[in-house]
Amino acid sequence: MSLSQLAKSISESPTLKLNETAALLRDKGEPVIHLGGGEPKSKAPIDAIVSCASLLSTGDVKYTPADGIPALKKAIIRYTEEHYGRVAAAENVIASSGAKQSIMVLLHAILDPKEEVIFPVPYWVSYPEMVKLAGGVPVPVAARNGGFEPSVEEIAENIGTYTKAIIINSPNNPSGAVYSDEFVAGVVELCEKRDLYLIMDDTYNRLIFENRKPTNVYDFSHALSLDSSKLVVINCVSKMYAMTGFRIGWAVGGKQVVRAMTNIQSQETSGPAAPSQWAAVGALNGVQSCVESLRLTLENNRNVMMRRLGGFSGVKVVKPGGTFYCFPDFSAYEKDSQKLCHLLLDKVRVVTVPGREFGMEGHLRMSFCGTIKEITEGVERIKWALDPEAPNELYLGDRKLVRDWR
Ligand code: PMP
Repeated sequence: MSLSQLAKSISESPTLKLNETAALLRDKGEPVIHLGGGEPKSKAPIDAIVSCASLLSTGDVKYTPADGIPALKKAIIRYTEEHYGRVAAAENVIASSGAKQSIMVLLHAILDPKEEVIFPVPYWVSYPEMVKLAGGVPVPVAARNGGFEPSVEEIAENIGTYTKAIIINSPNNPSGAVYSDEFVAGVVELCEKRDLYLIMDDTYNRLIFENRKPTNVYDFSHALSLDSSKLVVINCVSKMYAMTGFRIGWAVGGKQVVRAMTNIQSQETSGPAAPSQWAAVGALNGVQSCVESLRLTLENNRNVMMRRLGGFSGVKVVKPGGTFYCFPDFSAYEKDSQKLCHLLLDKVRVVTVPGREFGMEGHLRMSFCGTIKEITEGVERIKWALDPEAPNELYLGDRKLVRDWR
């Protein structure tokens, strides 16, 4: 079979692959605990369901404009005003099939072959592959101090003649880190000085803890208008409104780049699915308490996860300031994160995601978007699998396990 060079250069999404493996094991009756997940457990907001259902009940479900229905663009404009204090015109907004598609069409719209896109390590697994798909070259930048936030100088050192854009994602998948205002401000300034696109991935923007205010990237921009700026802000209903399956995301940026993105999207997929767009309208215009209630649940889950991991002597973990992920360092037990991830799935049926996929070896991404029981039992099983001091027997349901590997 002959496949393109491009196809051969793209790897499978490790998180989707893990979901598949976990589902297969569950189907066989295995007591799998999924700490690898990337979606909240809660249901979609009722306003989203009602709005979607009212379109469905007409039976009149047709193509939409390539950049989204006017009602959704209006809702996004209102959202942008409320949460970012910026007045966007309809031409500054494009709705896509998930934040993923917004980022993808943006990369297609701005990258020429071999142009580079910088992003901090650890990074969301898809950034390198998406940049490659768009013909560009990914440039991950790790902090020399081994932390989750490189310095602005470290980012600047990696800017060259081919650099076209910087992507930042805060709060961050996989570390849960909320980047400091100094860092975000520094990156905005850098992009404005060097005339680079800044892609601000705000997928988890409002899922932050300890009453911190979500970062508003525009606060640091000196641009006089959206159109005189190369800042593009990405959002979606996927995580904050627990609507991953609806596949609605959006971008707000300058009219010129949004027009180019719309042309590309119109040829690639056309507008997002109409029922999903109406669901997003319902979510954005409806009662907002669902976001706060999810945020509070996640903060509590995070605290439970931190307490449990705190009792694990070899594990170093930084408390996440947002999202529903933490990214502990397990290198005292095993430096190869893929090997560790497979061991945990094989031996104790706990799904985690190897840090290598996010550009940081020795770590595992562990989600706390599930139930308290999953978090506590999951960490307990991991501890049992790794801690030589633990008793060498464990019950998974009514199955007795005897540890014979440590
Ligand atoms: N950005 C980040 C940082 C994410 O974690 C995700 C989803 N895992 C996305 C974008 C994509 O979101 P969507 O599901 O809306 O495509």
